Amino acid sequence: MRESVECVVIGAGVIGLAVARVLALSGRSVLVVEKERHIGAHTSSRNSEIVHAGLYYPTNSLKAQFCIAGRRRLYEYCAARGVATKRIGKLVVATDESEVSMLAKVMARARANGVDDLELLDAAAAKAMEPEVFCVAAFHSPSTGLIDSHALMLSLQGEAEAHGAMVALRCEVASGRVRDGGGFTLTIAGDETMTLECEALINAGGLYAPGVARRIEGVPPASIPHDYFCRGVYFTLSGRAPFRRPVYPVPEHAGLGIHYTPDLAGQGRFGPDTEWIDAIDYTVDPQRGARFYAAIRKYWPALPDGALQPGYAGIRPKISAPDEPAADFRVDGPERHGVPGLVNLFGIESPGLTSALAIADFVGALVNEPTPASPVRARPAPRP
Ligand SMILES: Cc1cc2nc3c(=O)[nH]c(=O)nc-3n(C[C@H](O)[C@H](O)[C@H](O)COP(=O)(O)OP(=O)(O)OC[C@H]3O[C@@H](n4cnc5c(N)ncnc54)[C@H](O)[C@@H]3O)c2cc1C
Repeated sequence: MRESVECVVIGAGVIGLAVARVLALSGRSVLVVEKERHIGAHTSSRNSEIVHAGLYYPTNSLKAQFCIAGRRRLYEYCAARGVATKRIGKLVVATDESEVSMLAKVMARARANGVDDLELLDAAAAKAMEPEVFCVAAFHSPSTGLIDSHALMLSLQGEAEAHGAMVALRCEVASGRVRDGGGFTLTIAGDETMTLECEALINAGGLYAPGVARRIEGVPPASIPHDYFCRGVYFTLSGRAPFRRPVYPVPEHAGLGIHYTPDLAGQGRFGPDTEWIDAIDYTVDPQRGARFYAAIRKYWPALPDGALQPGYAGIRPKISAPDEPAADFRVDGPERHGVPGLVNLFGIESPGLTSALAIADFVGALVNEPTPASPVRARPAPRP
């Protein structure tokens, strides 16, 4: 079978679906190809479901810009479409004096990013908000919230489909090539093999994105980053939730620290931890629980023995090695790799869920207004 379509989006995670929606709304014909049996089978359903305020990321980084723009867009979008969110705020806590300077550093960085609603709290004020918390100081971030990520993905898919896009499940991009005259030919493996031709190709393959790019002949290998995987497991809490809102320790190098998040139904979970792994593997080793008890008791000393149950795992799609500074998001258009019509999304770890709508606008602008010399920060696509 041979098909042709204007735009192919690889991956039906939150990023691929958000991109498909923007492209479909701009009048493009769009096919999303997803190798799994259902949408959001990887990182988009294996995360903390937090709408991040934009606290942690280097000023002017894509992470900071997309997070802040994406958070505003996300709350508006979800309110208009009935996707559940809860702007309940969060506490970031310092549990000893040595962590207070880190707390101040995160606050300063957040303010430089334009997050201007943080409130510094002493231990008594933090305890007044969350009576079970232990800390020596904290800050409150009121614009942090919770989101139902699956409802968001269904909404993005529904809107994309209502504007003519199609989502094809169990269709894996097995190989491809950049055509001489422009555009792409892809071989799709699935229930049946198919050849697909398109003018624009958006690689939103998440953890697999660098591997997918390597399979497309004509994409310069030097433009594809090395992929690293950093697993984070969660443990769920049986029994009463200790806190009303998310509670985070100060961040670590590869993650944000083992934090507490209630889901929208009020059930509590802790995680994710950090473990660098060689291959994609979502196993949760119950032995990791011991480290959880120690980390959580720093800010919740009353955590009862035996209260944690192994939950689920997510894997951060890293593009920097464990001993390197954390890499920024990469949204690579032709100015990076020289291939007209191609957008590669690499390293879309946290805060990718929060950033999805802003990233999608940016990708829409790259696809709809391609200029070989376009700056990294292209003009955003007009809002539908
Ligand atoms: C532990 C953890 C916690 C996180 N917590 C948060 C949070 O609280 N808030 C926040 O904002 N962000 C968070 N994030 C980040 C967020 O979850 C991700 O940035 C986001 O889900 C990435 O979406 P995606 O669409 O890029 O990737 P994915 O959801 O992984 O989607 C990629 C899709 O591509 C498909 N695919 C891959 N290869 C092929 C192929 N060859 N052919 C066809 N399909 C293919 C895959 O099957 C997959 O469905 C967290 C991430 C992790 C790991």
